Formats: sequence, structure tokens, C-alpha cells
Amino acid sequence: MKNDFKNYLAKNQITPTRQRLQIADLIFIGDQHFTAIDLIKKVKKSKIHISQATIYNTLSIFESKGLLKVINLGSEQKFYDTNLKHHHHIFNLNDNSLFDIDEKRISFSKLPKLPDSMKLEKTEVLIKVKNK
Ligand SMILES: [Zn+2]
Repeated sequence: MKNDFKNYLAKNQITPTRQRLQIADLIFIGDQHFTAIDLIKKVKKSKIHISQATIYNTLSIFESKGLLKVINLGSEQKFYDTNLKHHHHIFNLNDNSLFDIDEKRISFSKLPKLPDSMKLEKTEVLIKVKNK
């Protein structure tokens, strides 16, 4: 097990338990999108013994501390995203795959007027596609 994430977790007020570090090793490898089910399969394949409850719990902690971004695509399809930079997505409904689109590749010509008490934080686009 690598220990690269020990400081990273501690810095984000997450106690770096062995299992959290094992999960960090599996998910923080480049930019990737995955569901909890994907991660459960990956953990099994890696022959690491972590209960499903711990996996869900860890994902929820990482999410609440801002280490993972969440993309909700319906009740069964909550995707976690390790790419924390602002970006957009293309979602393929045929195989449930998700791709990043650089934020510079989309621009808005018109946005709705916001109430005076609010300011724009960010705009995120989700483009849903099907195979031809
Ligand atoms: Zn993404």
C-alpha cells in the first residue's frame, strides 16, 4: 500500500485509516468517473477486504470533504468524479459511460436572469447521447 494519500486525507480533516487509504489508492488515479458499484467491483478484484458499508461511507466522507465531485444521473446512477476542475460531461445512455468536456469547449450565449440577491457560481452542462 502506498502512503501518498496519508497527508492528503489528513489535510482534508479525514482520519487516514487503512481502508480509506486503500480506497484512495484505487480511486485517485488520474481523472475518472465511477459509481459505488464500480468501486465495489474494483475492491473485490484487488482482493482487498473492505465491506460495502465502509465503501459507501468512505465515498460519502470524500464527497463531503470535497475530494470527489458528484454527478447525479438518476436514482441508480450517482457518479463520482475525481476531476475537481470545472468541466462538462457527455453521458452515453447506451452504456452509461461518462466523458469529460473541457470547460472552454462550451460557451453560453444566453443565461437566465438571476434574482438580484444571487450571483452566478458556475454553469455545468450534461449532454446525454445515444449511439446512432
Ligand atoms: Zn468529469
